Amino acid sequence: MSDLELQGKTALVTGASKGIGKASALKLASMGANVAVNYYSSKNEALDTVKQIKSLGVDSIATQANVGKLDEVDLMISEVTNKFEKIDILVNNAGIIHDGLLLRMSDDAWANVIDTNLNGTFYCSRAAIKLMFKSKWGRIINIGSVVGLRGNVGQTNYSASKAAINGFTFALAKEVATRNITVNTITPGYINTDTVEVLSDKQKEAIMSWIPMQKFGDVEDISNMVGYLASNSARYITGQTISIDGGMAI
Ligand code: NAP
Repeated sequence: MSDLELQGKTALVTGASKGIGKASALKLASMGANVAVNYYSSKNEALDTVKQIKSLGVDSIATQANVGKLDEVDLMISEVTNKFEKIDILVNNAGIIHDGLLLRMSDDAWANVIDTNLNGTFYCSRAAIKLMFKSKWGRIINIGSVVGLRGNVGQTNYSASKAAINGFTFALAKEVATRNITVNTITPGYINTDTVEVLSDKQKEAIMSWIPMQKFGDVEDISNMVGYLASNSARYITGQTISIDGGMAI
């Protein structure tokens, strides 16, 4: 993986206003890519990500869209292509949780999680793939979850959305394999972000007992893999589900 090897490439990272998405956007920028920073509600944080990306010497825009809404995704894609003409790297990172036991799960809690995590991945990938066909090169990097591999109490909606992303990845990887486009999913375990911050000490203690390495990961543990999968070094890797979870999925 050489420095600035993504020079001339354009990346779109969904949910890049904070957490894993922000770290991934910065990683791709540090490798020379221009980066479009999607956000939903955190405008100031997204503008800060853009500022940090520009300070690395590449170009960036913030683009607001709810990835779970097709019309908003269409507008976002237009905004990105008007500015950068293409999308070479798509990181489907935007994701939410809305936990509750199935017996009490509301229709909205189910639909919002599926819309954002799964339908968002579908809408963004379908739009980006068309552009990647034209460029004859592309990388789609999905952010799944260890919970999509092993389930978790109170997260039927989230587990279903993330498990479906694995199937989506296998199928799409096969569809586009001869086109110089790779499609992979990273399945993080528990990573230090706002999502994990809100857990109680008791919850954190219980989770720790599931993790062989006995610690949570950092956003860079995920963004380094995003950078690698986008690089030329990973050109023969496709259709994979790559766990980065301190051994939790073993
Ligand atoms: P985070 O810090 O809560 O950030 C979530 C990001 O997603 C924010 O930028 C948010 O944007 C964006 N987002 C939420 N709903 C959106 C929507 N409808 N449209 C567009 N953007 C939306 O989350 P994170 O912990 O970094 O998680 C990132 C991804 O990793 C998610 O897919 C999550 O499921 C996955 N993951 C995380 C962990 C973990 O332990 N942290 C573990 C496994 C998997 P705004 O703030 O602008 O609304």
